[in-house]
Amino acid sequence: MKRIIEIAHAIEGYDPDALHVDKARAAIRACLAPLTAAERVPVRAALGRVLAEDIVPAIDVPGHDNTAMDGYALRAADLREGETVLEEAGAALAGRAFAGTLGAGQCVRVTTGAVMPAGADTVVVQEVVKVKDGRVTIPPGQMRGQNVRTAGEDLKKGVAVLRPGRLLQPAELGLVASLGIGEVAVRRRVRVAFFSTGDELASIGTALKPGEVYDSNRYTLHGMLARLGVELRDLGVVRDDPQKLEAAFRDAAQNADAIITTGGVSVGEADFVKPMMAKLGEALFWRIAMRPGRPMAFGRIGDAFLFGLPGNPVAVMVTFYQFVREALLHLAGREDGAPPLLEAAAAEPLRKVAGRTEYQRGVLFRDAQGGLKVRTTGQQGSGVLRSMSEANCFIVLEHERGRVQAGETVRVQPFEGLV
Ligand code: AMP
Ligand code: MG
Repeated sequence: MKRIIEIAHAIEGYDPDALHVDKARAAIRACLAPLTAAERVPVRAALGRVLAEDIVPAIDVPGHDNTAMDGYALRAADLREGETVLEEAGAALAGRAFAGTLGAGQCVRVTTGAVMPAGADTVVVQEVVKVKDGRVTIPPGQMRGQNVRTAGEDLKKGVAVLRPGRLLQPAELGLVASLGIGEVAVRRRVRVAFFSTGDELASIGTALKPGEVYDSNRYTLHGMLARLGVELRDLGVVRDDPQKLEAAFRDAAQNADAIITTGGVSVGEADFVKPMMAKLGEALFWRIAMRPGRPMAFGRIGDAFLFGLPGNPVAVMVTFYQFVREALLHLAGREDGAPPLLEAAAAEPLRKVAGRTEYQRGVLFRDAQGGLKVRTTGQQGSGVLRSMSEANCFIVLEHERGRVQAGETVRVQPFEGLV
């Protein structure tokens, strides 16, 4: 296996001490390869999983030409310039076909989804016809082929409809079911082990001693990871003690594709987290040109990729969404890419320093004219977790950009679809 440091250094413009967010993403991406292991699961259980096979229809859907409306099936060749009067020769219902073949001057009453009677090519909706004594009067203006669904118009026999890497959402479950398929091959779930580091951390259920804070990062991580559909293992709070850290990292690496830690990766940290990462595996310690979330470690311990996130609660969420999420989706084999960025007008001036990418917490709204606008949630400190709760988007302010005036266009990343 190629060393991570070599892969990272091969990236043009790679500078671990002032790393552009795009370069950090590229370095991570270059090191990862999607997991290949797969398992077969029943269709319903495949919701949110990643397809590991081609879905190739063994049948056409629909299987026959059929009617799209309630009405009368007829032969377009019989239609006159003005009104046309046809003889009602029978009925075709959904699930019960018309037995014969339509002769000249005949029509068949049909309900939606009925197999098109042999000989018929057009359906006239029942609302426009007049029926009397078995004779059906059709008004002028009908088009050949109208209100008919052709066999295979949804799915064609032999033509792959879903490819590996596809996230299976409600529509895909229905598509698979419409082919009569009961089980699909999906990629194995990505396994993620995580823990918090720091001597100041208290777990819920214990009283806070002076200088302690409750560990919130494991809860946001739990939420973020659960939403991604990974298999997660919460290894708790690990004290800043070399033996405990070593045991936790070894345990995590045993059974995980990725390890996520929070805390202990800042420059001034006089603790054991960074040395332990470097001792047990390979770790790059980055200073990323971003705010929040400057320090971050990326590496590998055994077969598990390591994401050493900063300790500050907002920095944890930002680095997770900007780097870890994408990495885990890539490991999972998903091909659906990053959620789209929108553009909105800044509703107020935004403080910004050129030379780093900022992820300000924003509230996206529509003004009275219906235009998309965005304001910040106020205080943007990386310890102010409330800002993430109040926000509905990140305001993504590009690396080169300086202060933003009110009314300028900015890019926003809505939380919907991301978080
Ligand atoms: P660090 O990155 O370890 O220097 O931590 C930066 C800040 O984040 C400090 O104020 C820590 O107390 C805080 N912090 C670290 N870990 C957690 C955690 N798990 N939950 C809440 N706050 C944390
Ligand atoms: Mg610390």
